[in-house]
Amino acid sequence: MSDALILTLNAGSSSIKFAVYAQGDEPALHASGQVENLSPSQQTRLIVERDGGERAIDIDANDHAGALSSILGQAEHLFGGAKVTGVGHRVVHGGTDFVAPTVLDTDTIAALRTLEPLAPLHQPHNLDCVEAAITAFPGATQIACFDTAFHRTHPFVNDTFALPRKWFDEGVRRYGFHGLSYDFITSEMARTEPGLAGGRVVIAHLGNGASMCAVKDGRSVGSTMGFTALDGLPMGTRCGQIDPGVLLYMMQHKGMDANQIADLLYRQSGLKGLSGLTHDMRTLEQSDDPRAREAIDYFVFRIRRELGGMSAVLGGLDALIFTGGIGENSARVRREVCSGMDWLGITIDEAANAENVRDIGTDRVRVMVIPTNEELVMARAVNAALPAVH
Ligand code: ADP
Repeated sequence: MSDALILTLNAGSSSIKFAVYAQGDEPALHASGQVENLSPSQQTRLIVERDGGERAIDIDANDHAGALSSILGQAEHLFGGAKVTGVGHRVVHGGTDFVAPTVLDTDTIAALRTLEPLAPLHQPHNLDCVEAAITAFPGATQIACFDTAFHRTHPFVNDTFALPRKWFDEGVRRYGFHGLSYDFITSEMARTEPGLAGGRVVIAHLGNGASMCAVKDGRSVGSTMGFTALDGLPMGTRCGQIDPGVLLYMMQHKGMDANQIADLLYRQSGLKGLSGLTHDMRTLEQSDDPRAREAIDYFVFRIRRELGGMSAVLGGLDALIFTGGIGENSARVRREVCSGMDWLGITIDEAANAENVRDIGTDRVRVMVIPTNEELVMARAVNAALPAVH
C-alpha cells in the first residue's frame, strides 16, 4: 500500500461516513466505515469495513470532534503505518463562488459558514466536521467538494426563479444538489460508454434525498432541486416541489411560524408524511397499507413527470440512469417509472430489472442501473490536489 492515504468524510447531523484510499494515479479503496448515532442520547458506534470484514465498536463520542478522535483511535487498523496526507470533505453548498474542489482554510470556512441558512440540515455539520478534521489531522491538506458545483453549468433559465432580478443577484438561485453523485455517474459514462457520454442523459439519484439531473455533453443543464435540497422530487421526509401558496396559507391562516414549517417540510413530509408510516422505501414496499401504495405512486408519478420535462429540455433522450439506494435496489420503482414509456423509447427487460443488472433497457434508450460512489469523487479531487506519489 502507498505510504500516503486520503481520508474522505461525509458528515450528517448524527453520522459521519468515511473512506480511506491509498494515494496513487487513481485512488484505491483501503477501508471504509461510519460513526453512527452521534448524539448524547444514544450509544454511538464506530463501524469499520476492511478486507471484507467488519468491526463494530461502541464509542464515547457525541460530536464530530469526538467521532474523529475515535476514528484516530483505530489508526493502526485503518491506516497501518501510513500517513493521512489529504482529507476530502463533502460540503453540500458552495453557493455561486465555489465551483470546484477548494482548499479549506480560515477564510474559505468563514465564507462557507455564511451559506449555512441555505442548507440548514447539512452545511453546519459539514463545517463542524471540517474544523474537527483540521485538529485531528493537522498536517493534511483539507479539500471541500461541493454538491452544488456540478450544476454551475446550468443555463440561466434553470438557474433563476421568476422573481425580481435583485433576488437572483443576491444568490436566490436554483443551485441543484447531489453533484458528487452526478459527477461520478458522468465520469463512469465517459469511461465505459464513450458513445453515450456526449448524449442526452437523465440521471435519477433516488435515495433518502432524491433528485434528477438532465445532462448534455457530460454537463448539467437542469436539475430538480433548487435553492435548497427541498425542491423537486418527494423524498424520505422532504416534500419536494410545493405550491408556495401552501406556505402562505399555513402562516397566514394556521398560525404556523418558520420553524414549524421548516420541520414540516424537511422532516415530516415526503414518503413518511404521505404514508403516515415510514420514510423507508423498502419498508413501504413490504407494507399492505394502501397509504404506502399511494406514497410510492406519488414518488413514481413525480419522477415520470420530471423525466418527460427533462427529455423535452434535452430535445430527446439517449439514456436514463438509476442510482442511489432506491434507484440501485428497487426493481419495483424502476419498473413503475419505465412502465408505458415506450413513446419515449424506453422499455425494460423484467428479468434484468429484477436482478438490478447494469443494462435493463430493451429499446432505443439505454436504461441503466449504476451504483454511485461519491467518496471516490472526493478522493480523486484530493488526489489531484496533492503532490503525486511514485
Ligand atoms: P441517503 O440519501 O441517506 O444516502 P440511500 O441512497 O442510502 O440514502 O437510500 C436509502 C433508501 O434506499 C431507503 O429508502 C431504502 O429503503 C432504499 N432501499 C435500499 N435498499 C432497497 C431495496 N432493496 N429495495 C427498495 N428500497 C431500498
